[in-house]
Amino acid sequence: MHEKCGVVGVSLTDREAARPLYYSLYALQHRGQESAGIVTHDGFQQHEHVEMGLVGDAFDPDDLDTLNGANGIGHVRYPTAGGVNTCCAQPFSVSFKSGSLGLAHNGNLVNAEEVREELAELGHAFTSNGDTEVIAHDLARNLLEEDLVRAVKSTMSRIHGSYSLTIMHDETVLGVRDPQGNRPLCIGELEDGYVIASESAAIDTLDGELIRDVKPGELVVLHPNGSGYDTYQLVDESRTAHCFFEHVYFARPDSVIDEELVYEVRRDLGRTLWEESGVETDVVMPVPDSGRSFASGYAEAAAEDGADTEFAEGLMKNRYVGRTFIMPTQDERERAVRLKLNPIKSTIEGRTVTLIDDSIVRGTTSTQLIELLRDAGAEEIHVRIGSPEIIAPCYLGIDMASRDELIAADKTTEEIRDEIGADSLSYLSIEGVTNALGKDHDDLCLGCVTGEYPYDVEGEQTDRDVSRPIIDNASSADD
Ligand code: SF4
Repeated sequence: MHEKCGVVGVSLTDREAARPLYYSLYALQHRGQESAGIVTHDGFQQHEHVEMGLVGDAFDPDDLDTLNGANGIGHVRYPTAGGVNTCCAQPFSVSFKSGSLGLAHNGNLVNAEEVREELAELGHAFTSNGDTEVIAHDLARNLLEEDLVRAVKSTMSRIHGSYSLTIMHDETVLGVRDPQGNRPLCIGELEDGYVIASESAAIDTLDGELIRDVKPGELVVLHPNGSGYDTYQLVDESRTAHCFFEHVYFARPDSVIDEELVYEVRRDLGRTLWEESGVETDVVMPVPDSGRSFASGYAEAAAEDGADTEFAEGLMKNRYVGRTFIMPTQDERERAVRLKLNPIKSTIEGRTVTLIDDSIVRGTTSTQLIELLRDAGAEEIHVRIGSPEIIAPCYLGIDMASRDELIAADKTTEEIRDEIGADSLSYLSIEGVTNALGKDHDDLCLGCVTGEYPYDVEGEQTDRDVSRPIIDNASSADD
């Protein structure tokens, strides 16, 4: 599974925006490693630099020196909608009759094709197959007839799906979160300006203070001189659809999302896992790094219940090995886990072990880890997972396996246990997740673990009364 993208935007008083944007993108690198880009505006013209690769490779000091202006937006991307090539790297920029637009998108629209077709019929020419360009063209069209706030509202009335956006219209930076708030977006204050970012860790990196989350359906407009911001609640939905996997897997543990520190949420999920399916073993160990916060909460709750179990690292990670899928053959992919993780035998040999991770997608890694622990002499291996079984794909911007590849799509927990070779296996329940997050089931997206989505996804079930906008009739929103 891969997070899709990270977005950021800043407006400063009398400092160039390029370097703060660059540092923010470093803080958001975990949200996308395929490409990185920055667009700035100096009051006269827009400047952009978008490049494939990690942030550190995509920019050199000369590139940053050409990005003039105290206002700008930035983006890191992992491909979701659209191809793996430079034309889909972001921010996406376009010049039109009433100015310039830059757009950075985190999420995925589920009606992009319908909007694209209609715009194409009106004469819009597209250079990519990504949904971000669809938003940019729709907004550019609306800006020909409406002021900025109304134009954004009109576009929001036509697009359906998951989106947290930072937008640059000439030198004005905007932040928009979709009406159900699927992806995170927050606003922070700097010594000399304001910042909008996917995660608060980016604000911390700039020595700023988190002000609050951008509300679902809200537009935030930063003053171009960094002196303040205005907000507009453009759409009010009765229910939200926050992606629960942001808390479980994607976001940095040191980020605050929807007013919760992600690290503490993961520890609470680990504590709940112990309450639901705790088993007393000699040692509790995380899969590094993904299972660490869960395992620490699990072990703490176990100790409080008087369990005689040690919390220890049993697997050491080699931080210099790249992503598994760049290995060309299946055999090499299978070996990759041995390159990435090495067991600490003294923690494992002759002992019973609880291995904790955040999720199981295909089951391949779990199988390999269990083999690794058995080879290192573990007597029993009990696997505990800090999320429910993933039974369905994500259409909202997470790069996840298809149903065919998801091990839990057509297998019972007992069949999965057997396949991965564990002595026991338990997942966290859906109620355990909602309780630990302190949210109603109806305010979360749980599509990949229930098969029912909070958006109108073609061919899938929905868990609420929601439907796509009718594109032909919706040329602009009411005031
Ligand atoms: S389907 Fe799953 S991963 Fe996708 S947004 Fe919903 S909860 Fe998140």
